[in-house]
Amino acid sequence: MSEHILTVNAGSSSLKFALFATSRLDCVAIGMIDGLGTDPNFVMKDGKGQKLLSDPLEGERFVADHHGALSTVLDALARQFPQARIAAVGHRVVHGGMAYSAPVLVDDEILEQLTGFVPLAPLHQPHNLSGIRAAQVAFPGVPQVACFDTAFHRAHPFVNDAFALPRSLYDEGVRRYGFHGLSYEYVTGRLAEIAPFHAKGRVIICHLGSGASMCAIRNGYSIASTMGFSALDGLPMGTRPGQIDPGVLLYLMDQKGMDAKAISDLLYKSSGLKGLSGISNDMRDLEASDDPRAKQAIDYFVFRLRREIGAMAAVLGGLDAIVFCGGIGENSRLIRESALEAMEWIGIELDLDRNREGADVISSDRSRVRAFIIRTNEELMIARHTQQLLTPQAAIHLVNAQA
Ligand code: ADP
Repeated sequence: MSEHILTVNAGSSSLKFALFATSRLDCVAIGMIDGLGTDPNFVMKDGKGQKLLSDPLEGERFVADHHGALSTVLDALARQFPQARIAAVGHRVVHGGMAYSAPVLVDDEILEQLTGFVPLAPLHQPHNLSGIRAAQVAFPGVPQVACFDTAFHRAHPFVNDAFALPRSLYDEGVRRYGFHGLSYEYVTGRLAEIAPFHAKGRVIICHLGSGASMCAIRNGYSIASTMGFSALDGLPMGTRPGQIDPGVLLYLMDQKGMDAKAISDLLYKSSGLKGLSGISNDMRDLEASDDPRAKQAIDYFVFRLRREIGAMAAVLGGLDAIVFCGGIGENSRLIRESALEAMEWIGIELDLDRNREGADVISSDRSRVRAFIIRTNEELMIARHTQQLLTPQAAIHLVNAQA
């Protein structure tokens, strides 16, 4: 038997997973089931991206929920890796509230506390927690570790943690939490390996995927993020608008009679690139389209990106490095080029050839600020945290942000 760590990222209609050998945290399998409850589809690849099973659902199996999804995943893993023993399960949990600035070993009391954060992230947290419950049933007695998307940002100074609302709302937790923390943590660690000098300085990381945000990092610590109370603020995204005047929402309520559910659907599902272009939420479709609305949506995305780069650089008091990650950040040379075009005023000079090739360093040798592409790996970050919490010295970090 060989020991493995399973990572689980349970979303509203999907379950993403990865399997790591504990010895060196090599990824042996990674995949997902999406379309839960409607039209499930299962993909599983090895650590090098080769497909492992052609059709693990065997055309029949209807997967209704996370329990069903996890048992389907475990059947497939057991067939593929009969020698694997799960030593621990690491979970991506979107919200650690005010309490958690580090991952935590989950017990019943902590699970109840995490359930208390559901109102802070009603569209994500319940699914993350049902992933934990499904894994507890599947692996009784096996340690379950919750890794929070908010944790990396918990040390933000007050001015980047608060809204200018009545103080009582701040006290009850209406704060700028920031998200994508596992990605930022991984990328920050990777930057420290490939460019240790720059990693100690002032860094902007642009996580640009279907969800997009930006983080200002000084000496390895997050000091500001474009995402706030929810994963809606900041940059425009595939289907979310990013920063929006709250007066628009009042207008929609007062004049259009929209209730919270209708507004939530508008903000989470039909805005952003999809809403603005009327074509697609996928940047690849927009880049390939001749429709002027596709170009406008891309222009808007780039405009907000450039604006936030300026804001984050101001927060940092200058800039030493900028990093692109996420599906768009890692793959779209057009977006990177447009974002960094004529940015010499801030010290960035892009090397067009390096950018076109998708090189690790895309700034020119003359550029004062170095620009990087780093492929993010949230699953590996979860596996590392999980492994760390399994060591006897590991402690549960509970930071009371009010203290
Ligand atoms: P998620 O936030 O769901 O993890 P990803 O980080 O995988 O998303 O990013 C998904 C997005 O990346 C897609 O919506 C697509 O727009 C974009 N993307 C992926 N490959 C490319 C590419 N070659 N060019 C432009 N955009 C791309």
